[in-house]
Amino acid sequence: MAVGECRGHCQYEEIKEMEKENGRRVDYCSFCGQPRTEVAVMFDGEDGSHICDQCIERGHVILEETMERNRRKAPNFKMEELLKPTQIKSFLDEYVIGQDRAKRSMAVAVYNHYKRLLHESAGDRQIEIDKSNIMLVGPTGTGKTLMARTIAKLLKVPFTIVDATVLTEAGYVGEDVESILSRLLQVADYDVAQAERGIVFIDEIDKIARKSDNPSITRDVSGEGVQQALLKILEGTVVNVPPQGGRKHPDQKFIQVNTSNILFICGGAFDGIEKKIAQRLNTQVVGYGQLRKERIDQENIMQYIMPQDLKAFGLIPELIGRVPVLTYLEPLDRAALRSILTEPKNAITRQYVKLFEMDGIKLTFDDAALDYIVDKAIEYRLGARGLRSICETIMMDSMYELPGQADRKSLRITAAYVKSRLENENSKRLQAAG
Ligand code: ADP
Repeated sequence: MAVGECRGHCQYEEIKEMEKENGRRVDYCSFCGQPRTEVAVMFDGEDGSHICDQCIERGHVILEETMERNRRKAPNFKMEELLKPTQIKSFLDEYVIGQDRAKRSMAVAVYNHYKRLLHESAGDRQIEIDKSNIMLVGPTGTGKTLMARTIAKLLKVPFTIVDATVLTEAGYVGEDVESILSRLLQVADYDVAQAERGIVFIDEIDKIARKSDNPSITRDVSGEGVQQALLKILEGTVVNVPPQGGRKHPDQKFIQVNTSNILFICGGAFDGIEKKIAQRLNTQVVGYGQLRKERIDQENIMQYIMPQDLKAFGLIPELIGRVPVLTYLEPLDRAALRSILTEPKNAITRQYVKLFEMDGIKLTFDDAALDYIVDKAIEYRLGARGLRSICETIMMDSMYELPGQADRKSLRITAAYVKSRLENENSKRLQAAG
């Protein structure tokens, strides 16, 4: 250790002097060189070496710091504690209806992320495991964010959701790309080592697509520039992060964050990408004959999505290359919407039942009432997101009037009740929203 490096040498002569004067040997600390007379306690080694109380104390501090650093370096989980992909998917199943393929990809990506972290900390340099950032493509309101939020519940690493629409190139009005990492640092309680192995969900990534497939010569503030800036972070680099997020400030201290081990999950609706997929499929079909064309399921064209479709949509190839796992979410059909109302662990209807239960009121929904709600969500083209606003409209009056009515012990929601609630001002409002 570096403690008292030169004191030993410098004091050597002094000690020799003391020995001459006293006519006997003077013990001194083998680390800092202080003589026994000048320290509180001196410990003697069997080989004639000594250590003073101060050096033991300093050694103790250094030891604690080193152990703390090592603790931070190592992930806070072990291989045998990890949930397997099938278990992660089962957990997602409790909250997210359908979307099997996306759930499987997500489960595998998260599991591999953990394994990669363990592999890195084990120091095996022979095989480097690449990051498997994920791209979730699917219409709005089909569960992309829900899936990300749900997975966050069981993660052992920091997790944050950011919106790509607020990001701009450095120097423009909006948030710099580094702000993504400020968020992650915040959720990690500014533990940099923890943040460096976190997961970031970047929502609405399609909104930073460049507007045409041709690279433009003029700068594109909201699109390509942001993609370029994002690219560096996705690929793994050391970023100077302003701790408070937002814009960089000249006298703000930066925190350095290495992004090589951060997993990125990107989500976007990519409105109109079906056309690009269909175009590609149609050109492919030429020359392969009728058979191939017939096999294409025109109803669900999204299942054929390929990285080149993202390029055609306006993402730069480098960015696409950094997000190798591409998966899609299906539009929610009537049956899925119906299930969403009642089945997930925190399904909307279950939430209302709980709310009324707290007032001592037993709330029930007739099947016909639920069907009617789904019909309206489809009619107003509100999708899953609309189910909540429709239910809110239906339940509002009861939630206002019933608490406090001591004799009221139950409430049954029938189709007629739903109809009557929706046939007023609010339904016009809902229609307008759709
Ligand atoms: P987006 O795909 O636009 O990110 P969200 O995940 O925000 O959509 O979905 C909006 C809401 O709709 C969710 O909070 C949830 O209540 C409901 N929802 C959407 N998709 C599903 C699904 N597959 N299973 C259960 N609920 C869903």
